[in-house]
Amino acid sequence: MTRAFVFPGLTTRVVFGHGTLAQVPDEVARLGHGRALVLATPQQADQAAQMAGALGTRAAGVFAEAAMHTPVDVTERAVAAFRDASADCLVSLGGGSTTGLGKAIATRTGADQVVIPTTYAGSEMTDILGETAEGEKVTRRDPSIRPEVVVYDVDLTLGLPVGLTMTSALNAIAHAMEGLYAPDRNPVTEALSRDALSAFAAALPVLRDDPTNRAARAQALYAAWGCSTALGYVSMALHHKLAHVLGGSFGLPHAETHAILLPHTTAYNEVAVADLLAPIRDTFGANSAGAGLWQFAKDIGAPMTLAELGVSEADLDRAADLAVKNPYDNPREITRAGIRQLLQDAWDGRKPA
Ligand code: NAD
Repeated sequence: MTRAFVFPGLTTRVVFGHGTLAQVPDEVARLGHGRALVLATPQQADQAAQMAGALGTRAAGVFAEAAMHTPVDVTERAVAAFRDASADCLVSLGGGSTTGLGKAIATRTGADQVVIPTTYAGSEMTDILGETAEGEKVTRRDPSIRPEVVVYDVDLTLGLPVGLTMTSALNAIAHAMEGLYAPDRNPVTEALSRDALSAFAAALPVLRDDPTNRAARAQALYAAWGCSTALGYVSMALHHKLAHVLGGSFGLPHAETHAILLPHTTAYNEVAVADLLAPIRDTFGANSAGAGLWQFAKDIGAPMTLAELGVSEADLDRAADLAVKNPYDNPREITRAGIRQLLQDAWDGRKPA
């Protein structure tokens, strides 16, 4: 029987293709703006300067200090730079860290955002912002956070290092995985998730051996769009909560943490919602979704253990305490013992049963 659902509608304009970076000035103009502050990390400052050059008189300046987990002190400096430059919109060029900075400025100033993602992390289509202050990451959702325009240019991903290719893609796959069992899922997010999982499953093994393969890069970026869109319109559960606890409280790298946790969080919830995770079993070809994702991650060369990120076995107790501190909706009951075992499995890199 067809399930009842609510489809909230999609609000972000998307431009996808090769060479689409050239369309960014027109997209800024289309929004009715004339002074864009271009954002990037220090590592992508040159690309941001070129973007500002291409924007010409529509550029208000460059702020290239974006950092992982969106530290609030960086945002405060960026908001000051936005106001000092009399900017009226944002162009965020980079991975999830740069997108996060753009969202943090937008929700404080009301500025429109044009986002140009260069990893597969999948923040660009969501209304979600995680910010860190004093070692704690606080995540919230609000319509003012969601970007107005996303310009996907496959050419910008041709040089994405293989490691970040795989880990940021697994970060995106985690969005689709949680979307499959989200209570507010709908036929659009379900279809996009299934399609994105298949596209990643086909593209990532190709990119492992041939990172500049243009067709596989296009397929992977398309998959990232699908995963990001799915997450943008459904609620998150255990996987994202745990990744945020570990990332924010232990300063772990975001994409790697997601990649390592994914098979284990999937296996934990598969006990309760095996039927809803069937698309993962179908796509990654295993008897269990957790085991299928574990084998896939191993095959594409992703990091497999929390130990290799420098987490000590003693940290696992504190992480388990933090992860169960505030209750939240999840398909399977969250217990301290269950989460402690999940973390142990992720620390050891054990293949889920
Ligand atoms: P990142 O943005 O931190 O990028 C990692 C490094 O790679 C940076 O130095 C960056 O400049 C560089 N880089 C990016 N693209 C590159 C490219 N094409 N070639 C070479 N170098 C490149 O990493 P990420 O994994 O994309 O993003 C992680 C952040 O995104 C975290 O802060 C996380 O919380 C956030 N995130 C948020 C959401 C959301 O919906 N709110 C979703 C996913 C991720």
